Amino acid sequence: MKKHSKNLLLAFLFLNGISCTQLNDYQQAEQTIQPDDMVRIVKEFSSDAFQGRKPFTAGEDSAINFLIREYERIGLEPVNNGSYLQKVPMVEITDSPDDKMIINLNKNTLELSYKTDFVAFSKQLVNEISLENSEIVFAGYGIVAPEYDWNDYEGIDVKGKTVVVFVNDPSFGTNQDDFFKGNAMTYYGRWTYKYEEAARQGAKGILIIHETEPAGYPWGVVLNGATIPKLYLQPEDNYMSMCAVEGWITLDAAKKLFSLAGLDFTEIKEKAKIKGFKPFLLNAQLNFSMHSIHRFASSQNVLGILPGTDRADEIIVYSSHWDHLGIGPSLNGDSIYNGAVDNGTSTAWMLEIAEAFSNLKTRPSRSILIFSPSSEEQGLLGSKYYAEHPIYPLNKTVANINNDLMLPYGRYKDIMITGYGQSELDDYLENIAPEYDRYIISDPNAHTGMYYRADHFSFAQVGVPALFARGNCDSREHGKEWAAKMEKEWLTNFYHKPTDQYDSTIWDFSGIADDAKILFRVGYELANDSIFPKWKEGSEFREKQFIN
Ligand SMILES: [Zn+2]
Repeated sequence: MKKHSKNLLLAFLFLNGISCTQLNDYQQAEQTIQPDDMVRIVKEFSSDAFQGRKPFTAGEDSAINFLIREYERIGLEPVNNGSYLQKVPMVEITDSPDDKMIINLNKNTLELSYKTDFVAFSKQLVNEISLENSEIVFAGYGIVAPEYDWNDYEGIDVKGKTVVVFVNDPSFGTNQDDFFKGNAMTYYGRWTYKYEEAARQGAKGILIIHETEPAGYPWGVVLNGATIPKLYLQPEDNYMSMCAVEGWITLDAAKKLFSLAGLDFTEIKEKAKIKGFKPFLLNAQLNFSMHSIHRFASSQNVLGILPGTDRADEIIVYSSHWDHLGIGPSLNGDSIYNGAVDNGTSTAWMLEIAEAFSNLKTRPSRSILIFSPSSEEQGLLGSKYYAEHPIYPLNKTVANINNDLMLPYGRYKDIMITGYGQSELDDYLENIAPEYDRYIISDPNAHTGMYYRADHFSFAQVGVPALFARGNCDSREHGKEWAAKMEKEWLTNFYHKPTDQYDSTIWDFSGIADDAKILFRVGYELANDSIFPKWKEGSEFREKQFIN
């Protein structure tokens, strides 16, 4: 809603004898959150003119200019010497691996073929990489988790060696809720964690055994991701602290490897799930090399702030990534990946929250930072860069409230928390929910590890409590079954496809407006509080908590 029409509305309400004084400050500010404003934002932000908003393209310029205009309209202040922009230096790596990975074991040789049996890549910024007779260690799930008294690397030195590990957590498929987090994936289950831990242990190579169910996706997804050029943040150490070779092998390849090593795969898998599992050498040596080329370029994060009053150095961060996939393979003659839901709707959600904050008569004590990260689609790179190069100190950053993939299918009774139970931010939402006629539900698909796959995770990893919540499971008008059907259809027909575009026939922003109101209120309460919410007992981020 434009400012003058808002004033007209208030004048209208006043003249008709409806007193605005009954509404308190935040309730009045909340009135500026309007579905029609969201339509305007999403329509333009996901239009063909923005070319799918891919970093380093003309689409990036369009997206950034649009956000700057919106930030200015709302009255956000620049954060970086008069600028809304934070430069995000990146490197694009194109790997050309050998066609074969050769494993010598006992008197046998196992040859694995690129793409059918394995994929491999490297973050290290060197052109030639090789593993020569690198001893292979089986390290179970590749997890070191003190809070679960679990160490898959116990008693073995893996320096210079190559570790082979399972994907997900040992609790996957066990239905034991008191073992890790049962079927809900912890961060220890993510492939990114497996690579990080292997590097901390000093391994030279790491191969994850792919299995469709615990990975959450088929081999084809691994293959697509592995064989295109990859973007990473520009590292200070040229990523020499990471493993020289990272990769995946298929389940079949793993079975062949274990069988040639004289081991029964099923037995090994069972053993790896039992506490006290010990890693061991397979008496197998790996030989492999690859060639890589590197290209350097920068993208931009966009940030604006509404300074608080007496606790202005303490920050609440709202975030929603601006980037999408650009122009790609065409589908029915359309090659523009508009990214209207991914992540246009959340961008509208965030801008409307920002506008509500700027319409408060009394500014809250704490500051509100509005953050549009770049390159989420490339591995949460923009938010990761901010978390590693924060403009405002992280120990004064109270919370992150992020959104992604908000479905424009009307109003919901539920508000679904992905990563429910992680932090005390859940309690803020839970306390407020009845006032908004909403109920809390834990993400029913927690086994896919979604809490670790959107930008709030970058904040979680550096200790800042993060909330990822939206209406999703219980449509006010059509019920639960319909909501599940619509979500499934969206994932099948629209997710990461050129069809993810604005649709005036069925889209209804009233639910996203509801989500903006309730999450504006969470931020408002936090911004007037002096408490720093904590990670909860059992959260893998608890040890990263700042002590304030
Ligand atoms: Zn996406």
